[in-house]
Amino acid sequence: MSSQSTLAPRVHAAEQSLGAAGYRLTRPRRELLRAIAAMPDHFTPDELIHAVGPAVGRATVFRTIRMLTERDLLCRVRLEDGTLAYRWSGAGHHHHLVCVSCGRVDDLQGCDIDSDLARLAAASGFAVDGHWLEVYGRCADCRAREA
Ligand SMILES: [Zn+2]
Ligand SMILES: [Zn+2]
Ligand SMILES: [Zn+2]
Repeated sequence: MSSQSTLAPRVHAAEQSLGAAGYRLTRPRRELLRAIAAMPDHFTPDELIHAVGPAVGRATVFRTIRMLTERDLLCRVRLEDGTLAYRWSGAGHHHHLVCVSCGRVDDLQGCDIDSDLARLAAASGFAVDGHWLEVYGRCADCRAREA
């Protein structure tokens, strides 16, 4: 079990952000935030539904995940097998380094591809609103083990 002291800052920050955005912090939402904070690095909605138990309805789980994603508190990560998972978001626009060997996900900060994308898409008369990119490969630990 993770201790309260490691979970509390994330839950607190999430509650503050939702409160500031005018969301009511109902009891199910608070329970859900605690459950999310106790999840492993990334999780699927089904895993969260299983973890939180019958106290919180399925629709509330999906609504809250969407709310947290819109507030940049959670981010989506597409795993190599196509599974859509969620994890606590790093700040701002970023991508993920997904290790196909151990499943580890790390944030990849810094993104310099917008101008290239805009240029390439312009050839099709297309105006770019955004992009979503995951990077698959092997993490430093896995590479060290294989060496
Ligand atoms: Zn992320
Ligand atoms: Zn790895
Ligand atoms: Zn980017």
